[in-house]
Amino acid sequence: MCGIFGVRGHSDAVALTKLGLFSLQHRGQESAGIVSVEGETARGVRSMGLLADMPSAPLDALHGHMAIGHTRYSTAGSSSIENAQPVLVSSRGGHIALAHNGNLTNAGELRVDLEELGSIFASSMDSEVIVHRLARSTAAKPEDRLADALRGVEGAYSLLIVLGDTLLAARDPRGWRPLAMGRLNGAPIFASETCALDIVGATYERDIAPGEIFAVDLSGERSITPFEKKELKRCVFEHVYFARPDSRIFGGSVDRARRALGRRLAQECPASTADLVFSVPDSSNSAAMGFAHESGLPFELALIRNHYVGRTFIQPTQATRDAKVRLKYNAVREIIEGKSVVMVDDSIVRGTTTRGLVTLVRAAGAREVHMRVSSAPVTGPCYYGIDTPSREELIAANNTLEEMRASLGVDSLGYLSLNGMLESMPTGPDGFCHACFSGDYPTQPPTDPAKLRSGCGS
Ligand code: AMP
Repeated sequence: MCGIFGVRGHSDAVALTKLGLFSLQHRGQESAGIVSVEGETARGVRSMGLLADMPSAPLDALHGHMAIGHTRYSTAGSSSIENAQPVLVSSRGGHIALAHNGNLTNAGELRVDLEELGSIFASSMDSEVIVHRLARSTAAKPEDRLADALRGVEGAYSLLIVLGDTLLAARDPRGWRPLAMGRLNGAPIFASETCALDIVGATYERDIAPGEIFAVDLSGERSITPFEKKELKRCVFEHVYFARPDSRIFGGSVDRARRALGRRLAQECPASTADLVFSVPDSSNSAAMGFAHESGLPFELALIRNHYVGRTFIQPTQATRDAKVRLKYNAVREIIEGKSVVMVDDSIVRGTTTRGLVTLVRAAGAREVHMRVSSAPVTGPCYYGIDTPSREELIAANNTLEEMRASLGVDSLGYLSLNGMLESMPTGPDGFCHACFSGDYPTQPPTDPAKLRSGCGS
């Protein structure tokens, strides 16, 4: 997964992009980058780690009226600067810079085709095929060149692309990943989530529509929808876990979605004997509040999260992942001791986090631990941009509910149903991709998922 941000026609484009990326840091902590355009010159900075760790000297050298930026999400084994974005190359039509959120499912095949035509790739990212296809198009208008490049590309993409002096924004026809458009002093601003528009003081205008290509340059703003219409498949996991609760995505509030998930969870899997409810902060805060409200139980801050430690998935091995749970969380004994508690998390993937937390909560004196999950069981990998591990590592893909309960060490375990999850969405249950929960994959899974996962653009 990734965060993308872009602006054109603002003298502070670089500073705005940097600010915007700070608000999208939760969407990717592996690397960050910014490309800016000043006159005929495009310059870029990419570095590993957080945006705050980006060296300031090269960043200070970026100027111009147009900029795009990217925060990249970690996928084990692919942590290298070559895979940081935005990609910046020069081609016969001028410079091309690209920032991508999503995963292309036929990138392997497209890459082989391009290599046969003589293309030389500089990274293992799926996104790079779009750059090569853009360079090959002979269409006159930038938006038509992008349409040429994207025809036949399958999978998930929200894109920001600089092509010469044009800024292009595009979203795949199924609309898997969010992409919002706002405005600041007349300048169009694009961001994965609206929280990044808020930080720069921009006003939200609309979402880039599924299948839309939006172009902005000196000749004005243009929108085309060149692709065959497809069934909407917005990622339900964005609402469940990924996006920030202060964002609106897919036409609805993430906070409202999570509270509804929590309320529905309390209806489907009540914990009537419990004394209190707490969340696994931060991503399940809103769902836990919904659960507490619906059950009439007090909501407590019983787990404290250390904010200077990143998301657990960044750790590539199981041993370091286990240690990181303790590094990241601690329990408040004064709240928990002697109590029957409900612990709400938004999802269980491998089970590592839950198992570590249950140990902490029991050590703090909990009498009973009732685990409630505000999503359906994750039973399959995502090929569209979320870093879920292979099926073998997914606890819910390989165990019954009772086996999971015993293995996680809880007194009871309750998951939200698939229908309950979809019916909690602020825009209604339709138009969502839920492949990782249901196995209902909207496209052919990639022929070599391992390769795709280690080289994904998102
Ligand atoms: P696990 O320890 O593998 O069961 O991971 C579950 C925890 O990771 C939960 O607290 C989730 O909020 C969080 N989580 C779920 N999906 C992801 C993901 N794709 N990347 C990072 N963290 C995740």
